[in-house]
Amino acid sequence: STTPAVVTVTGAAGQIGYAALFRIAAGAMLGHDRPVRLRLLELPHAVSAAEGTAMELDDGAFEQLVSVDIYDDPRAAFDGAEFALLIGAKPRTKGMERADLLQANAAIFAEQGRVLNDVAAPDLRVIVVGNPANTNAAIAAAHAPDIPPERFTALTRLDHNRAIAQLARRAGCAARDISRVSVWGNHSPTQYPDIFHARVAGRSGADFAADRAWLIDDFIPTVATRGTAIIEARGASSAASAASATIDHIHDWVLGIEGDDWTSAALPSPGVYGVPEGVVCSFPVRPVGGRWEIVSGLEINEFSRARIDASVAELTAEISAVGDLLPA
Ligand code: NDP
Repeated sequence: STTPAVVTVTGAAGQIGYAALFRIAAGAMLGHDRPVRLRLLELPHAVSAAEGTAMELDDGAFEQLVSVDIYDDPRAAFDGAEFALLIGAKPRTKGMERADLLQANAAIFAEQGRVLNDVAAPDLRVIVVGNPANTNAAIAAAHAPDIPPERFTALTRLDHNRAIAQLARRAGCAARDISRVSVWGNHSPTQYPDIFHARVAGRSGADFAADRAWLIDDFIPTVATRGTAIIEARGASSAASAASATIDHIHDWVLGIEGDDWTSAALPSPGVYGVPEGVVCSFPVRPVGGRWEIVSGLEINEFSRARIDASVAELTAEISAVGDLLPA
């Protein structure tokens, strides 16, 4: 299509936003033949920084970039949005309890859900990156009664990509030789990267999972705590990889996945795989006709069941911590 796509990015002046915007402008997200209008939402104090980013976007002279507009008002920023990349979130500050963080972000995402419901395009698709991403997505969806809940997704593609990278390293193959990895649960250290159904350069992922010591003591914790390892090494949290995964998520949602592979995304559970309805949980998914379809019929062994249940229990607890922000 040659009609420009309207893409609203929140937290546009943050680290992830900065890395994402240039690749979106370059066509990495929606394809090199799709023009893009970027709308950047920032908090008032960060608008000036967003203006600087917009100047750099101008200087990229990107062929597909039609316009860049900057807002500090969500209602204006989301007007007509077809894609909402909700990257901005309140970070945890010193001495802040997890419950306070949940509450502060719940208020932001409740408002964004209401505004999206009122002003976004009818075919809106949402990806929440700002943490706690799953619960933020659940709250936004709950405040947007006219938008199908499955349009509200949260990013676990970075966890998925990290799992592929670790498995490729173990198998001595390339990332492209690996398919059908699944990430289940929350985007948090309780997430469960599942390789039992994976294909690894002609072998079964279950062969690798048979080495339980490696699976339990190395693979799962390395994937689940990769964010912390990057902060320690880099002195800053992962940004370009998070941006890249966000772009992969929207790219595949819109343009599809080749072959019989799948990916991972968090979306409101329709009540499958023992995950209560409405909990925004990561599942193995495939894009089908513009919708994420959860891969069905996978056999979940006892090992996987316990880990999925633990992460879902954490999600349920997060949701009850912000229960008063969910409509009755
Ligand atoms: P980043 O751009 O580094 O991160 C943005 C969000 O992404 C954080 O909540 C972060 O969580 C989350 N995130 C999710 N997955 C990952 C991952 N794998 N690695 C790293 N981060 C991940 O944050 P900045 O502080 O640089 O920028 C945030 C911007 O958002 C600021 O410019 C701020 O002004 C803006 N903001 C905008 C709002 C709005 O538009 N309404 C509301 C609040 C803030 P975590 O903190 O847990 O790392």
